Amino acid sequence: MSFAQLGLRAELVEAVTSKGYTEPTLIQSQAIPTILEGRDLMGGSQTGTGKTAAFTLPMLQLLASRSDQGRRTRNPRALVLTPTRELAAQVGDSVATYGTGLNLSSTIIFGGVGIRPQIDRLRRGIDILIATPGRLLDHASQGTVDLSQVEILVLDEADRMLDMGFIHDIRKVLKLLPARRQNLLFSATYSNEIKKLSDGILHEPVLVEVARRNTAAEKVTQVMHPVAKSAKRTLLSQLIRDGEWTQVLVFNRTKHGANRLAKQLEDDGITACAIHGNKSQSARTKALSDFKSGKVRVLVATDVASRGLDISRLPHVVNFELPNVPEDYVHRIGRTGRAGEEGSAHSLVSADERGLLRDIEKLLKREIPVKEIEGFRMHEADGLEDARNTSRGGNRNSGRSSGGRSGGGQSNNGRPSGPPRRRKPFNRRSGDSRSAAHS
Ligand code: AMP
Repeated sequence: MSFAQLGLRAELVEAVTSKGYTEPTLIQSQAIPTILEGRDLMGGSQTGTGKTAAFTLPMLQLLASRSDQGRRTRNPRALVLTPTRELAAQVGDSVATYGTGLNLSSTIIFGGVGIRPQIDRLRRGIDILIATPGRLLDHASQGTVDLSQVEILVLDEADRMLDMGFIHDIRKVLKLLPARRQNLLFSATYSNEIKKLSDGILHEPVLVEVARRNTAAEKVTQVMHPVAKSAKRTLLSQLIRDGEWTQVLVFNRTKHGANRLAKQLEDDGITACAIHGNKSQSARTKALSDFKSGKVRVLVATDVASRGLDISRLPHVVNFELPNVPEDYVHRIGRTGRAGEEGSAHSLVSADERGLLRDIEKLLKREIPVKEIEGFRMHEADGLEDARNTSRGGNRNSGRSSGGRSGGGQSNNGRPSGPPRRRKPFNRRSGDSRSAAHS
C-alpha cells in the first residue's frame, strides 16, 4: 500500500516521501481514507504509531480541495487541540512539513509565551490552528480568535487532556465551534470519561484502532531492576556508562526530583538536563534540541513534559521512579521503539514501589522481566524480590540475565543477604501473559 493509493494528492505524497516515509503505517492506512470521506473518527492509537500524519495528511487534503473549490475565510478552518505545548509544536511541525506544497497557513498557540505575537499572527488569517485549550480560550475571550468557521476538529491525546483537567476548557471550546463539522478524536487509552466525551462529540464515528488498548509498544524490550531507593542514582549512572548509552530519556515523578537528578548525573560526569512544566518554553525547547542533537546525553523529564516529545529512534527510556498512574508507564515507554524502531525500557524499582509495579503489570497483563544488576541487590530490593518469589512459589533465579548469584548467604555491598525474608506478598494474578487484549 502506498500513500498515493490511499487517495492523497501529489503534493502530499511528495511531502511524506521526502520525509523518507514510503509506506503508510497501520493507523495511516486505516484513518486516511476514512477522514478523506469526511467521516468522524475515533482513533485508538498510542504515540509512535504515526498518528500525527494519520490525521494531518487528510486534514490538509480536505482543506486544500475546498480552497481549490473557492472556499475562503480568514478564520481557522481546522482546529487541533493538544494537551501540551510540546505536542502542539510537534503537530505544528508536521502540518508545516506535509503542507509544504499547499497554499495553507498554520500557527501554534500555547501558554507560557507572550500572547501579542500570537494575536498578530491570528489577525493575518490562518487556515489551521494548533492550540492548547487554556491559551485558546484566552484568545477567544479577548475576541482575537473566531472559531465559527472550523470545519475539522482534532482532539489529540484526548485521554491526556482529561488527565490534565482540561475537560471544562474543552467543553467551552466546543461551544465556540459550528455544529456542523468533522470530528477526529485520538486517545491511547479508553476510560469511561473518554467514552463520555466521544459520545458527546463524535457523530457516527468510524473506530480505528491499531495497538491493543492499554498495551505497551511491542517493539520495546522492558526490564525492571530491583534496587534500593538510595542506590538508584548510582545504578542509573552505571547503566548509562556500562551500556554506553548515548541518548536516554529518564522519567522522574516530580519537577524537583528531575532537577536534582539531572544535577547529580552531571556530577557523575554524564551530561544531563531536566525538562518539566516549570521551565520556560525557551528552556524546554533548548533542552530538547540539545538532547536530540546529542549535546546532552540524558534528558530527565516529568510525565507532563514527556507528552508530545517526538524524538525519533530514541533507544532507551528509564523509569527512575514508577509513575503513580499505570497508563503513564505505557506513555513513557512509548517514547522508545517508535514507528518500527526497537527500544529498551528500564525501570528502577525499589521496595516501596511494589504496589505501583503491581498496578502496571495488571494493566499490561504481563510481568516485566527482572534483571538484577550485580552489586545492587540490596536488602530493600530483596523485599521486592522475596515477595515475588513467595507469590509464585518458584525459583526465580533460573534464566536471569544478570547476575550470577546462585546461592544465598552471599554478601552484597558488604551486607549479608541471609535467608529470604518474607514481606508483604506481591499479589500477582495467576497470569496469562498472552492475553494482552484489554478493554
Ligand atoms: P506519532 O505517532 O505521530 O508520534 O509518530 C511517530 C513517529 O513516526 C514520528 O517520528 C513520525 O515522523 C514517524 N512516522 C510517521 N509516519 C511514518 C511512516 N509512514 N513511516 C515511518 N515513520 C513514520
